[in-house]
Amino acid sequence: MRRNAPLLAIAGILVAAHCAQAAGMPTVAVVKGDLLGGAGPETAELSEERYRVVCDLLEAAGIPYRETSDTLVERWGLPDVPVAILPFNRAVSDEQLRRLRAFLDRGAALIVFYPERAELARELGGRPGSISRELYAGQYHSMHRVDRSVHGMPANLVLDARIVRELTPTADGRPVYSWRSATGSASGTDAVIVSDNGALIGVPPSEEHASRLKLLLRSLVGHFAPKMWAALAPRDPRYIGPVGHHGSLADFNAALRRASGDHLEDSRSDVRQAYELLAAIPELIADGKQDEAISASRRAEELAQRAWFRSYPSATPEIRGVWASNTVHGGWDDAVLRLAEANFNLMLPYMASGAAAYYPSSVLPSAANISGDQLAEALQAGRRHGVAVHPRILGLFTMGATSQTRERLRQEGRIARCPDGHDNRWLCPSNHQNRAQIIQTALEMVGTYGAEGVQFDYLRYAWTDRCVCGTCRTRFQNDTGITVRNWPRDVIEGPHRSRWLDWRRELLTSLLRTARQRVKEVNPDAVVSAAVFINWEGHRDSFGQDWKHWVDEGLLDFVSPMTYMADMERFQNWVRKQQGWAGDNVPVAMGLGPFADIDPKVCPQGVLDQIQASRRLGSRGFVLFNYQQGLAEDYLPVLSLGATSSPAAMPPMGG
Ligand SMILES: [Zn+2]
Repeated sequence: MRRNAPLLAIAGILVAAHCAQAAGMPTVAVVKGDLLGGAGPETAELSEERYRVVCDLLEAAGIPYRETSDTLVERWGLPDVPVAILPFNRAVSDEQLRRLRAFLDRGAALIVFYPERAELARELGGRPGSISRELYAGQYHSMHRVDRSVHGMPANLVLDARIVRELTPTADGRPVYSWRSATGSASGTDAVIVSDNGALIGVPPSEEHASRLKLLLRSLVGHFAPKMWAALAPRDPRYIGPVGHHGSLADFNAALRRASGDHLEDSRSDVRQAYELLAAIPELIADGKQDEAISASRRAEELAQRAWFRSYPSATPEIRGVWASNTVHGGWDDAVLRLAEANFNLMLPYMASGAAAYYPSSVLPSAANISGDQLAEALQAGRRHGVAVHPRILGLFTMGATSQTRERLRQEGRIARCPDGHDNRWLCPSNHQNRAQIIQTALEMVGTYGAEGVQFDYLRYAWTDRCVCGTCRTRFQNDTGITVRNWPRDVIEGPHRSRWLDWRRELLTSLLRTARQRVKEVNPDAVVSAAVFINWEGHRDSFGQDWKHWVDEGLLDFVSPMTYMADMERFQNWVRKQQGWAGDNVPVAMGLGPFADIDPKVCPQGVLDQIQASRRLGSRGFVLFNYQQGLAEDYLPVLSLGATSSPAAMPPMGG
């Protein structure tokens, strides 16, 4: 079963796009009728109610508004908006009228429901007549359009009004709607009058007419503030977008026309559909099908975004992996299924550190707070859905170890030392028991559990000045024949520094060498890989991680440098270097960090760009850090539209 996730992801991207469009959207003012002219509390309540209805109508219409009142307008005038609406203003004062005229003089428009004051109505092209109650049921059944000059007005608006205010146009005004009875006969009374200054509406706004009045209000606001339509239902491809790296749909379309490639077919089809939808919008609006017009525009925007993601080519063979923790959001089956659906072929969950296992291990003590057999479950899910699961071992790190385990390790002299004391978080790499356990853990994963591969992570030192424990001192002196007078100063910054750096590098390399050899004895096809630091040149000294040497010696089947950064220029510079170090013999599955602890983050578009750049620069895959809800919902769906839209075989491994 395939999920609808791609559309969800695109919807998320669209939120931003629509916010941007809303920037060009005009704001209107709504004037609460709080001058009552001596009327009682019932009028106050009615006035408040109708004011609320108009606010709700605007909300539903997607038009932003500002609230004001008769009193505020009387004192300060109207704010600088193109349109103001009077929902139910029973007692417009002389001073307020002066202010409203000043507003009209600025070129703004007024929309007045159920006008009361004749001078104000005349400004808007109409004369208010008497209030007319229907003589028979259905007399004022619908507003019938009699003039098509206002964009977006539906031909008929069924209101079934009981009471209307009769309106007659003056020389400045023209009726756009007249009342029709339920049987379709003209009642002889105009329902809406429009002039250059604004509009008069012959009924008060009410909740029961909301869906029709929304259309009326939207067409009137759009008439006096035409930018509204462009913001609400953009239909010009030059204003749809941005689309990926292109400023607009029009730009993207032009780029697609210049490009070639079979993989662009889906993308082109989406763009064609988007253009067709946009082209239909003027007619929809002219027919009063406002909501349809708005939907068409949104759908075109969605198609444009999907077209962009679909324009990325899929590649094979290719390693498509994710790193994961010892548990995953949604459980192993769900997570692996989502990966399979996005055509990923590898998952790398950590299942042990050097001092604790996240599964019932016969080699390592259990990590604190674990339940069940996460390793067995992960491997089973992988087999079920055809995704390779290579458990990861956080080599010399003690993550997950209980405080009792740490204390025991310290007593046994197995914890790493820096010049000023123990570093509880790390193991001494020269200690035989530590080394044996790491190797045995890998064998347990590949042998007992039948994993198709294993990845070494944290196969490094915490920093340049360790490990300087007694065991390391003895072994360094034995291995090199050097007697160190000032330990550890002479090795860290003194005369033996160079030999020391070589020696401590080899300590890790030899651990990997033995582990690989033993793993291959158990299963010659098992894949041995490593997650490594970004800068081999410098980190081979500081962290003792000599991964170029590991590759050259054939100790790895593939390597994943953790190149976590958003900046594309820097990213590509690192990838170039790393590809140079790895050479052609071992696939590089580039480590990308959308959820790494970096600022700024790598967004889905950034991951796409980094995948493309890595492919171009010679990587044979990528591994994303790391599996979580956000990755599953925001990244995988977008990738699977194009960049991973078809399955990929694993590339030939190195080693
Ligand atoms: Zn040590």
